[in-house]
Amino acid sequence: MSELIIKDLRASVADKEILKGVNLTIRGGEIHALMGPNGAGKTTLGSTLMGHPNYTITGGSIKLDGKELTNKTPEERARAGLFLAFQNPVSVTGVKLSSFLRTAYKQLHPEEKVPLSEFQGRIKDHLKKVGLDEEFLSRSVNDGFSGGERKRAEILQMVILRPKIVILDEIDSGLDVDALKLVADEIREYYSQEVGFLIITHYQRILKNIDPEFVHVLIDGKIAMNGEKSLALKIEEDGYDWIRSE
Ligand code: ADP
Ligand code: MG
Ligand code: MG
Repeated sequence: MSELIIKDLRASVADKEILKGVNLTIRGGEIHALMGPNGAGKTTLGSTLMGHPNYTITGGSIKLDGKELTNKTPEERARAGLFLAFQNPVSVTGVKLSSFLRTAYKQLHPEEKVPLSEFQGRIKDHLKKVGLDEEFLSRSVNDGFSGGERKRAEILQMVILRPKIVILDEIDSGLDVDALKLVADEIREYYSQEVGFLIITHYQRILKNIDPEFVHVLIDGKIAMNGEKSLALKIEEDGYDWIRSE
């Protein structure tokens, strides 16, 4: 079973400390929601976990299945089973989505020899499920994709690459109601006892479709409150001020 253990994680961006000691454990089969006001450090947490070069870890540790990831490259973290769907996915000009997925898959699962035709079949199947046309396969990754298309493409990457720990940073923002449903269906289909999720969101509408067992609130770089799904509902009604004052 997968287990991501984040211990007293501290990180800074441009010499400013943003994460001030985050503790969180995510196991296979668990769905965690992470909420928090703008600028709390949610994206910083996702990016720091993934090893983005702009974020410097200044303390604490990140372990996945007992393996220390703290000083590892993003590629090594991905190979260990970590996946991040970006809040703002960047485009990769000149790399077709189909070759990107094929290359990434081979790097992440070198032991699996999936014939190209079967692999393409899988991709086409999931393209349909996330509501993207087949022509996207021959387009450069995210290049000229609308905001919603980028989010769908991130979910496509998740199901194809089959990570053990999935971090989704505002996957619901910019999606219309129908797209949100397709994306939520894909997430639920991918969900299993082998996979743990951290869903970063402002809204409980995605949590209606994907039931989180745990809800955490990040405020000023620290987890200020832990709760159940009802906490997400309360935040949507009452905001964050009451948590700040507790
Ligand atoms: P959230 O995702 O919770 O809205 P972020 O993690 O994006 O918050 O940002 C946390 C804080 O870090 C903000 O004050 C933001 O301005 C700052 N920050 C993030 N990235 C950078 C950067 N590259 N340079 C300077 N400050 C940054
Ligand atoms: Mg934000
Ligand atoms: Mg953010």
